[in-house]
Amino acid sequence: MKKALFLIAMGAILTGCQEQRADIQKKVDEYAVVKVSSPLMDKLSDKDKQVLNLFRQAGQIIDELFWEQTFGNPDFTSSLKDGAEKMYAGINYGPWDRLDDNRPFIEGFGEKPLGANYYPADITAEEFAAFSDPDKNSPYTVLRRDEEGNLKCIWYRDEYKDKLDRICLYLEEAAAITDNEGLRNYLLKRVEAFRTDDYFESDLAWMDMKDSKIDIVIGPVESYDDKLNELKTSYECFILLKDEERSAELAKYVSMLPDLQKMLPCKPEYKTFVPGTSSDLNVYDAIYYSGDCNAGSKTIAINLPNDDRVHALKGTRRLQLHNSMMDKFGKILLPIGRALIEDEQQKHLRSEAFFWNVTFHEVAHGLGVKQTVNGLGSVDEAMGDEKTTWEEAKADILGLFMVCELIDMEEIPLISKEDAITTYIAGLVRSVRFGSASSHGKANMMCYNFMREYGAFTRNRDGFYHIDYDKALEAIDAWADLILTTQATGNYMFAKEYSANHAKVSEALSADIAHINNLGIPRDITFEFVW
Ligand SMILES: [Zn+2]
Repeated sequence: MKKALFLIAMGAILTGCQEQRADIQKKVDEYAVVKVSSPLMDKLSDKDKQVLNLFRQAGQIIDELFWEQTFGNPDFTSSLKDGAEKMYAGINYGPWDRLDDNRPFIEGFGEKPLGANYYPADITAEEFAAFSDPDKNSPYTVLRRDEEGNLKCIWYRDEYKDKLDRICLYLEEAAAITDNEGLRNYLLKRVEAFRTDDYFESDLAWMDMKDSKIDIVIGPVESYDDKLNELKTSYECFILLKDEERSAELAKYVSMLPDLQKMLPCKPEYKTFVPGTSSDLNVYDAIYYSGDCNAGSKTIAINLPNDDRVHALKGTRRLQLHNSMMDKFGKILLPIGRALIEDEQQKHLRSEAFFWNVTFHEVAHGLGVKQTVNGLGSVDEAMGDEKTTWEEAKADILGLFMVCELIDMEEIPLISKEDAITTYIAGLVRSVRFGSASSHGKANMMCYNFMREYGAFTRNRDGFYHIDYDKALEAIDAWADLILTTQATGNYMFAKEYSANHAKVSEALSADIAHINNLGIPRDITFEFVW
């Protein structure tokens, strides 16, 4: 009897383990593996290829640095025995699921500390507030405890010195090899930045780097991983190849921005702002990601640097990552569209349309209203914690608006407005899957709900989406007008109430998402670098 009970209990434990393993394998499978290389590599000189190899070695150290920042131990995955756990920890840089609000997925781990490893694990917001060291707010210091347990600041250049020294050696070697003056200047300034934690000059040098076929974003850049204060920056590295043909095509749109601004569907007094035409918009293939940008979901467009002082002097650079976009389209967006949209309209799911929609989303961030019209200061100030959600919704719908206008003007070839709209709607469902934890997720829910409530799409008898393109075009104008008006009048109260009521997933949409999940359509991609 005892033995039987023991066996039953063992059975339960084994099944439990197997279930957990199957769960983690399922999570791993939510990321489609993509082999990364680029046809642009064939056109490079031997020197350029040597430089790329040095970049990649530097990039591998960036990976170790980010492990240290976000988790602590760069060798964590080698301590894991289970293959699925190992894979998933590698994708997430730790035992917390980045696509599931950082919930732990490995036994023995609790909540991810809000301050990751940028702060002592036991620090509280109150203790941080009471700590009186001016360096505590720097994006380039970590906080640690001294022997007595008191807080102290350590600069990145000291905390990570050994690894940074190795990175600098690779970058210096690359600078000595490259024939491109702009790239050399940037690399040497970046080395200086790693040694001083002052990135300003190297950011300016990156802005001036206009004619290099190869490019690298390397350093501490974004602060999203610091959930305690959104202050401390995370190391990341992108290695990029410029697609000169596609970039040349984009150049003309930058000069059209002032005219596009005048066409926005809103009151004339909301569009007096004149967008700059000096910002740089180019297309790249990303052949390597490491650190922060490689953790969880992957970036398909870059808009950097983040330093306002650089914006004022030189604007920003917008880099559209074409190969990663195409991978996300093929592996995720297209299967979603095929699962949800009625047969006759599926021909309008087009990778080129996805490229243009994403590209003009980025462009749209530079258009619209920057100052409120009623003395409430800048739109950012007036919109408070609704700022990012509305700005993302704006960029999304104005991006589609511009693509449609430019198709009418015969300035965007090869795709139709039907292609742009169909691909956009399937794209909204793709983004809504990331949930409401992010401003992007909330913005996409508002866009989806606005289009649906306006009648831009309905369900046919079999439950598939049927898009009414005339209604969709009206909906684009109406939604753009509502957003621009809200921003221009700094109407925070309205924004708050509207997003509370509309940044939601309806029952029907949540059934669509369950359907997509059941079909095993991946949520994101993960890379295997094959060069
Ligand atoms: Zn955006």
